[in-house]
Amino acid sequence: MSFLQGIAASSGIAIAKAYRLVEPDLSFSKKTVEDADNEVGRFQQALATSKSELEAIREKAEKDLGADKAAIFDAHLLVLSDPELISPIEDKIKTEKVNAEQALKETADMFVSMFEQMDNEYMKERAADIRDVTKRVLSHLLGVQVVNPSMIAEEVIIIAEDLTPSDTAQLNRQFVKGFTTDIGGRTSHSAIMARSMEIPAVVGTKTATEEIQNGDMVIVDGLTGQVHVNPTPEAIESYKEQNAAFEAQKAEWAKLVNEKTVSADGHHVELAANIGTPKDLKGVINNGGEAVGLYRTEFLYMGRDQLPTEEEQFEAYKAVLEGMEGKPVVVRTLDIGGDKELPYLNLPKEMNPFLGFRAIRLCLEEQDIFRTQLRALLRASSYGNLKIMFPMIATLDEFRQGKAILEEEKQKLSSEGVKTADKIELGIMVEIPSTAVLADQFAKEVDFFSIGTNDLIQYTMAADRMNERVSYLYQPYNPAILRLVKMVIDAAHKEGKWAGMCGEMAGDETAIPLLLGLGLDEFSMSATSILKARSQILRLSTEEMKELAEKALQMGTAEEVVAAVKQATQK
Ligand code: PEP
Ligand code: MG
Repeated sequence: MSFLQGIAASSGIAIAKAYRLVEPDLSFSKKTVEDADNEVGRFQQALATSKSELEAIREKAEKDLGADKAAIFDAHLLVLSDPELISPIEDKIKTEKVNAEQALKETADMFVSMFEQMDNEYMKERAADIRDVTKRVLSHLLGVQVVNPSMIAEEVIIIAEDLTPSDTAQLNRQFVKGFTTDIGGRTSHSAIMARSMEIPAVVGTKTATEEIQNGDMVIVDGLTGQVHVNPTPEAIESYKEQNAAFEAQKAEWAKLVNEKTVSADGHHVELAANIGTPKDLKGVINNGGEAVGLYRTEFLYMGRDQLPTEEEQFEAYKAVLEGMEGKPVVVRTLDIGGDKELPYLNLPKEMNPFLGFRAIRLCLEEQDIFRTQLRALLRASSYGNLKIMFPMIATLDEFRQGKAILEEEKQKLSSEGVKTADKIELGIMVEIPSTAVLADQFAKEVDFFSIGTNDLIQYTMAADRMNERVSYLYQPYNPAILRLVKMVIDAAHKEGKWAGMCGEMAGDETAIPLLLGLGLDEFSMSATSILKARSQILRLSTEEMKELAEKALQMGTAEEVVAAVKQATQK
């Protein structure tokens, strides 16, 4: 049995076999071959192995996941037996006397780029099929294994170096019991998604992919950040008991689903949920969310190869607004960039993507994208209680420009006779220290603030939120952060506006007492954290937490703050 310590990213305990989701090394060099017939034979052997492997996967997929999921493998099998692809490869080996890997790659690349350039969805999909099949055949030529996460059909724990948000979205909840990654922090988007999907996860273990092999038995403890490899039967038993206790605790919290969130001394705050797609609404409702405090619309734009249309967006926004039945829904306009890429926008690679051309910066420049989203939002506004907010606002000018564009689109819709809601609150995310410091000025113009601590902490502490090596600097309880949060809340209240928080800090057990004391009006968090937060707030006195917050603001370190919170909340 061995043990790794990482960062607890999504609570719960998972026990299952390891499934390594590691990109295989498919590198090779071009070689001249003496015996071309022998090389063709090697290629045909790799084709045959790929074919029988795909047939087996197809059969398993059909049985476990249904015919529609299996259809993709029919397409792959067709590619494998397509003479228009296979013959040129064999000819190349024979005439140019190159190794099979080289002949395969050159020929496949030529077809892929030809199909990709066609203005036809079907052909673009064929390009993707050829790419996948090439990878598989190449892996057999090189003798390495390829993996396909969407095809997992037994209970597993995913072991990966990192998972992108779109990898995470594709995980099949039924079979993926948990995951653990080498890199990442609590606020990387894969961790955030794991929480909304209720998959226990530990990130930032540094060495999971080195130390865990396929088939090893693994325990992922998303409560403490521990990962156990090949645990003893006693350890498994003890974790099963802990898991049962955690489930019992959740059942207790579930009794609060229809309660208001009122502190012990009668102060009401709003507990809202962060969502990424309309599908997450079920979780919001089941967990007693009083609002949607952050709808991360960028997931509508990801995992596809072109921008979503106005109509598609309208349908998604309308579904969320209707689903919330008049409760507030704060939709954030496109926040692409950082760890959320859109390959089809073909943006140049940047040295510092988190400090680069992203979010509102991109939207103000690529106005077609922005205007399409705003129109869809405005049209959807008549179906519920919509509030809009702009991400990554650094200057008042950015807010004013965004607001002016929104007004223009509203005017246009009105002249087209399209109905929009009379009043749509317009706010900003406070993720950049300049905006927190200047909150008093912003508060005169915005309708609300939503503090995005995931980024605010990384920018204030100059510590990448994804980098586990500097995670010790990523300090939500540092008095510097608390002071910025206070500036924002006070500035809002002075102008009669409200202040919320949609960074992960809003759902953090240690931060909640402080935020309550600082006067935060709305706490927006992963839906699965809501009931626990409610049960905590019901027991806290706002007056006492005000005193605690006052003291914390005068402290020098995060450690002192944590100790003070413990002391003030232990009764
Ligand atoms: C934040 O920065 O706190 C936030 C909520 O936005 P995201 O996590 O999507 O960057
Ligand atoms: Mg952010």
